[in-house]
Amino acid sequence: MTTSTMNKAVASALAAVMLVIGAGCGMQQQSAPAAVNWEEQYPGYKTDFYEAVNKAQFDEWEIPDSDPSIGHFMTLELENNQRLLKIMKDAAQSAGTTNDRDTAVVGALWATGSDIEARNAGGFGKAQRFIDAIDAARTTREAIKASIDFNRMYGYYSFFGMWLAPDSADGSRKVHYLAPADLGLTKEEWHSSIEETKTRVKLYEELMAQLWVESGASAEEAAAKVSSVTKAMRDLSGSALDQADVYNAEKTYNVHAMADLEAVYGEAVPMDHVYKAYGVGPEDTVVIEDEGLWKAAAKFLNEADPQLVKDYIKTCLFSDLSTMNTYDAFRKVSENHRKRLGLEEEKSFEQNLAGQINNRVPFQCGRLYANAYYDPKAEADIQSMVDDFLTVYAKRINGLEWMSASTKKEALAKLDAITAQIGIPDVWPQDQYEIEVKMPEEGGLYIDNVLAVQQAEREYEFATKDEPVDKTLWSDAPQTINAFYDLSCNNITLLAGILNSPFYSGDATEEENLGGIGMIIAHEITHAFDSSGSQYDSNGNLRNWWAQDDAKKFEELGQSVVEYYSAQSVRGMQVDGQLTLGENIADLGALACVSAVAKQRGLDLRKVYAAYANLWAEEVRDEYLANLVTTDSHAPGKVRVNAALSATDDFYDAFGITEQDAMYVAPEDRPHIW
Ligand SMILES: [Zn+2]
Repeated sequence: MTTSTMNKAVASALAAVMLVIGAGCGMQQQSAPAAVNWEEQYPGYKTDFYEAVNKAQFDEWEIPDSDPSIGHFMTLELENNQRLLKIMKDAAQSAGTTNDRDTAVVGALWATGSDIEARNAGGFGKAQRFIDAIDAARTTREAIKASIDFNRMYGYYSFFGMWLAPDSADGSRKVHYLAPADLGLTKEEWHSSIEETKTRVKLYEELMAQLWVESGASAEEAAAKVSSVTKAMRDLSGSALDQADVYNAEKTYNVHAMADLEAVYGEAVPMDHVYKAYGVGPEDTVVIEDEGLWKAAAKFLNEADPQLVKDYIKTCLFSDLSTMNTYDAFRKVSENHRKRLGLEEEKSFEQNLAGQINNRVPFQCGRLYANAYYDPKAEADIQSMVDDFLTVYAKRINGLEWMSASTKKEALAKLDAITAQIGIPDVWPQDQYEIEVKMPEEGGLYIDNVLAVQQAEREYEFATKDEPVDKTLWSDAPQTINAFYDLSCNNITLLAGILNSPFYSGDATEEENLGGIGMIIAHEITHAFDSSGSQYDSNGNLRNWWAQDDAKKFEELGQSVVEYYSAQSVRGMQVDGQLTLGENIADLGALACVSAVAKQRGLDLRKVYAAYANLWAEEVRDEYLANLVTTDSHAPGKVRVNAALSATDDFYDAFGITEQDAMYVAPEDRPHIW
């Protein structure tokens, strides 16, 4: 598993609930006209609001050949990618002489990353000794020992991955988490009946075989190994958590003593080595989010042929390192990515490399980006919107008919404690430690530089494990086009990247900003009270603050949201109401809150809703849509707009929607929670 998936696991531990990330191409902001004849301007808006409002946008957009979709997030990201590409090239020019650490790190990664000859000659670089150790292992136990060393040093894992993250029960301290097995793909993908997803699985297997060939295996040998390994992955995934349960603390917050690992793993995992490598003991606490997978993996390790275990570990390792070693491996990954997403064209080598470097050193790139492009003038405006929403939200919670006074008190305390991080961080994580990278002229190799970054982060992670959690550190870098709510900190973050048109602009109308960034802010606040956020208290700790009856009512209301969204589909692909529950609750709560604020200010609600519909305008290739409905916790854009608006009472009054209209849903069938 790559560290980016590892970070995903960390994020699931923190349960930082993300919006959407993508890539795409440019377009101008639509500004709503002053006086709108709705039927003339948006014919059919009562039948399909999303299609009608976004028609002009869709006519203008075309999915770029090398992207899986196009939308506003992707558009802004593409613009950012161009800026980052320039930043990296400039950094490479001055990396050898600068005193600026960010420039030195980013510049060395770019210079060595684009040195194709050196990459081809360098192979796996300093990772080779771990591959040799796995090859030399005579037993599963010895192979696992080598993979533990690799995990401790660089964070990548196959069967035994350990990392530190805030303890859900006490967010001020850190605790160890265990990742039991890299499954290559999600459980839902391995067992999907959707044709497009089955093709993706085949392509994944094809890529793994190609990576074995790249590392020196014959085609027959590679095919045989990958066939056995992927069968094992598919079998193991049957015991794993459903995607829909990944954010459910009731299922994932499973606290054990390290000694419990010994009992379950038996001979297969050398626990004395675990204790030494991670600096822990039998009494220390470890959280195992996926217990089913843990037990299945332990059984597999004890029963499988050691050769299969070694092949499994190496398959994961080849996959993790595939974009940082040779140019040929890199090409295979890029070509496979194109096929898996149904793209007509691959991205250029430079674009791919820039994207990877941005993922590997996001905060170094982020500070260089902020220095060149970020203007903090929007921050005060955004903060005042946050304050307004919190005030309105408090009124709404006070007015809830289904919730009792004691639970309201807790909910209001949690709401009151929510803070907002806006734009760029005050504290940058890379200032906490040193990274030793080398330029090509110093003999630097790209894979070694990337591993040096990983190693520095891991050393810092374990060196500070007994220190309290530093809540001033952000979990995502500011150039990302995103916003999120962090459960363990009870705060929302609006990154610099999203403070741009069409989400926010100083030149936009109040309605446009309310339907844009306003909806995003209210959505993130609602995550504090969605199906997973509601399990945490005002300090970000996992604690049941619900009166029993209220908890039951909340669950019933959640079930009505699941059923409502499970009845939705896009191009014949069914929405998974359970998988998307938390996001849908956030959308519904945000619409209710934003509608209240708009009415309070005497604004034209219709324009707010039109701006909201525009926010999620997207065109998506079939292959990618199939992937999204299987694995994404967000419903497709069209559902996020139409289904959510059809559940919003103010939408009916604003537009005079009646039973005759396709957008109509009977009042008793509209789910309402917040
Ligand atoms: Zn969300």
